[in-house]
This record gives sequence, C-alpha cells and structure tokens, in this order.
Amino acid sequence: MVASVIDGKAFAAGMRNSIAGDVSRLKEQHGITPGLAVVLVGQDPASEIYVRNKARMTREVGMVSFRHHLPQHTTQKELLQLIENINNDPLMHGLLVQLPLPAHIDEESIITAIRPDKDVDGFHPSNVGRLAMGKSAMVPCTPLGCLMLLKDELGSLAGKNALVLGRSNIVGKPMANLLLREHCTVTVAHSRTRDLIEHCNRVDILVSAVGRPSMIKGNWVRPGSVVIDVGISRIHNSKTGKGRIVGDVDYSEVSQVAGAITPVPGGVGPMTIACLLANTYRASCQIHGLKGETGTTQEL
Ligand code: NDP
Repeated sequence: MVASVIDGKAFAAGMRNSIAGDVSRLKEQHGITPGLAVVLVGQDPASEIYVRNKARMTREVGMVSFRHHLPQHTTQKELLQLIENINNDPLMHGLLVQLPLPAHIDEESIITAIRPDKDVDGFHPSNVGRLAMGKSAMVPCTPLGCLMLLKDELGSLAGKNALVLGRSNIVGKPMANLLLREHCTVTVAHSRTRDLIEHCNRVDILVSAVGRPSMIKGNWVRPGSVVIDVGISRIHNSKTGKGRIVGDVDYSEVSQVAGAITPVPGGVGPMTIACLLANTYRASCQIHGLKGETGTTQEL
C-alpha cells in the first residue's frame, strides 16, 4: 500500500483564505479589526524568524500585527507590565509570548499573566484545564492543526485507537485531550514507555511529537493507519555540507505501509500558524460577544 499524502500546506493556505474572508466581513459588519500582539524577548535567531513569519501572515489575512521586541536583559517585572498593558488594550485581541524566554524569566508566571481570552497559544492553565475537562477553550495551535488534518482525512474519529508519542504541554498532552474529546481511545507514549513498537502497531492513528529524526520505521506502523508527523529535526549531510528538515517518521518506509501520512516539511508546520490566526479571529469575536468560528475551524 502506498499512503496518500496529507497536504498540510494546501490545507493551511485554504484556511488562511477563509480567515481573510471572515476578517473582511468582521470589519465591514462590526468595525472590528482583529489584532495580534507578539512579544519576543532577546535575540534567538529561530524565534526571530518565527515571529517575522507570524507577523507577515497576520497582515496577509487583514489583521493588525503588533510586535514587541524587548532586549535580552528585560526584567520579569517589565515583561509582566507589558503583558498587563496588552491585556487591557482593546485593539490587541490575541497575545502570544514567543518561547523560550531568557533563563532569568519564569515562563510559568508570564503565561499565567496572559488574559485567558487573549491566550491564542492556549498555554494558560485556565485553557489547559478547560480543554482537559472537555469544555470550550483556546487550544494550542499545533495539536489543533493535527486534529483538523485528521478530521479532514477520516471524518468522525469516534472509536478509533490513537497513540500520541510525546507528552509535552504544548503538543503531546493537548493532542491527547483533543483526541479524547473526539471519542478516540488514546494511549500517550513517552521515553519510558515499554514495548513502544507494539503500541504503535495496533493503532488507527499515530501522532508523533518527539523530535528524533526518522525514528518511526515502516514495521512500527499498522497497515492503512493515519500517521501525523509533528517532529522537526534539522540533519546535516556531511558529504554535501547541506542541512535539511526531517520529521520523526522515516517517510520513505512508512509511506509504503500507512494509509495516509503528513510530509515534513509541508504537513503539520503550516497548520500551526493558520491555527494561530484562527485563534486570533476567534478571540477578537468572543471579546466582542460574537461567535468566533471561521469557515474551516470546528466548534471547540
Ligand atoms: P519535547 O522535547 O517537549 O517533548 C518530546 C517528547 O518526546 C517527550 O514527552 C519525550 O518523553 C518524548 N520522547 C523523547 N525521546 C523519546 C523516545 N526515544 N521514545 C519515545 N518518546 C520519546 O518536544 P515538543 O513536544 O515541544 O516537540 C516535539 C517535536 O515537535 C519537536 O521536534 C519540535 O520541533 C516539533 N514541533 C513542531 C511544531 C510544528 O509546528 N510542526 C510545533 C511544536 C513542536 P519524556 O516526556 O519521557 O521525556
């Protein structure tokens, strides 16, 4: 069997298109322009690229992008003050603090200071708790993107056996909670899991968020299953001197066994920013007492 390719890049482009239409209607009918504030502290080159891309795509769908780039030596108190200002600013509906933060700043205190209804990353304990309780919440963008691809591929997920590989707060745990909410039977595996290959072999849905290049081989995967690869690793070819991005899944092997598979790049990655924009649209509607579902996001 040769797997069909789940084209996250095309799906995300369609989502952004649909969000742009929703944003334009929101402006026309209610005079509201969604605004996303992104806060970056320090000079991490990868974070600077992420923030630039987020700002560009925010503008492309007709939203306003507010970028706050603070120096590395910013104190926790100064950062908390900025968050309070953004929390109270009616033009900024979404607020995202780019992680990781410099070591002298306590990440948890910063995340907890964000107003839950502006928390477009879905990391605030209130949103984490609501998601775990199966209630409406701001959902972290990467697992939300994975869920949308899965539902697009499979329709109803009810009754499916799913395995989430990885238990981080930003991907693994929220992914498991989302799949539970869709009535899957969910296993969460991690570095201490025994008989990992056997667990992988028996599921209909495998979502991997580990960060180990090409770890999942063809014989790990149940024939016909759907494989979502969240992992991003940069590997270096010592012969050519060039680097390239690969996922957790050995694509050449697994694509011969699975029913459907996301490529890396071009699978989950583009969905993350599209879901950030969907969350920002939703926040701007809900703050104004409007329903905030875009054409491509389901009721959450
Ligand atoms: P973390 O490092 O926080 O978590 C990795 C998880 O993988 C941990 O739960 C860890 O287990 C588990 N793990 C590590 N090694 C093994 C192993 N050999 N066998 C089984 N489990 C293992 O990573 P993140 O969740 O933040 O990210 C995961 C990957 O997803 C990374 O490659 C990251 O770059 C990528 N990513 C991609 C995004 C996108 O937009 N596409 C967005 C976010 C992340 P334990 O808990 O026991 O240590």
